[in-house]
Amino acid sequence: MRTGPARRLLRTSVASVVVLVVAGATFAVVQVRADHTADARTTTQRADEADATQAAARAAAALADEARRAREARLAAENAAAATTVQGQVATAEPVLAASEGKVDDEAVRQALAAAIDAARAAITVATVPATPPAPDAPDAPDAPDAPAILAAGTAVDTARVAVEAAQATWQQATDAAASAAAKKPSAARPQPTPRSSATDLADAAAAAKVKAAAGGVPVWVTSVPTADGDGSNGHMPLSSMCLIRWGTDQIGSPQYLRCDAADGLRRLNDAFRGRFGESLAMDLTYRSYDEQVRIAAYYGALAAAPGTSSHGLGTALDVQEWPSVYGFDTERYSWLVATAPTYGWFAPTRVREAGAYPEYWHYEYDPGRTS
Ligand SMILES: [Zn+2]
Repeated sequence: MRTGPARRLLRTSVASVVVLVVAGATFAVVQVRADHTADARTTTQRADEADATQAAARAAAALADEARRAREARLAAENAAAATTVQGQVATAEPVLAASEGKVDDEAVRQALAAAIDAARAAITVATVPATPPAPDAPDAPDAPDAPAILAAGTAVDTARVAVEAAQATWQQATDAAASAAAKKPSAARPQPTPRSSATDLADAAAAAKVKAAAGGVPVWVTSVPTADGDGSNGHMPLSSMCLIRWGTDQIGSPQYLRCDAADGLRRLNDAFRGRFGESLAMDLTYRSYDEQVRIAAYYGALAAAPGTSSHGLGTALDVQEWPSVYGFDTERYSWLVATAPTYGWFAPTRVREAGAYPEYWHYEYDPGRTS
């Protein structure tokens, strides 16, 4: 049996191998654990980074959404304001279209106005329908017009309306001239049918109102309807030089006439007034015939203008309604009218201002260039 140094060497060798094996295994375990810890740390870091990226994206989307909503609200407000303006223009044009039926030489100008009104109505309707998000698979809806497009539709209405008014004025003058020529012929002794039967009816109504007022002892002042045979003197203005004011009648429904240039200035002044206050000027009296001036002077004596001297007799003066809280000296409308009317040839004369000799806040006159 072998003993001594050989056995000792064998034991030492075995022990060394065991030590090495144990050490190697321990190292491997520690290494695996370390690797796991590093992996876990990397995963957490990646998740944190992803969260931050998503939060940033959400914040950016919210900002974009807010900006989009603000832009949509601003556009909607602009569209609504434009629609209101155009509604006023359509409201002015509609009676012009209705009143011109059969009273223009070229029907095409009326058709153009009708088409412009239809287009403006369509623009207003599309613009004021509340926007709804389109369904994903819906066909593209037509783009709603923006404010400039809506306003352009209104401008087209104004242009077409002015053309109709001009065409009707031309037709009216030709018709009046023909009637006047016929009346001067000796052979035309037989009563002629008048093209102004509605104005005649209204003049009759005015006369009836005067009779009624006289019976009751209360004077009713009414606007005079000019006649075709006027000689152009104060209170005798010929119908051919006078133009109808398209809005507002006097208290018994008489139509309002002014000299055509004054009427045109007033129409433009009224457009500006409506733009500012959202309503037309409330008219009381405009043209006043000589007979009417005599009647007023008889009632008021020295307070009234001497018959034949009133600017109302020339169709170049107007009275707004005597509503002190609306048109009185202290009102916003009065200040605006005094400041703005001269742009359109109208003005408040010094003598009827608050400090004037005859304070009449309701009275305005037409004389381009004058401001007081
Ligand atoms: Zn007056």
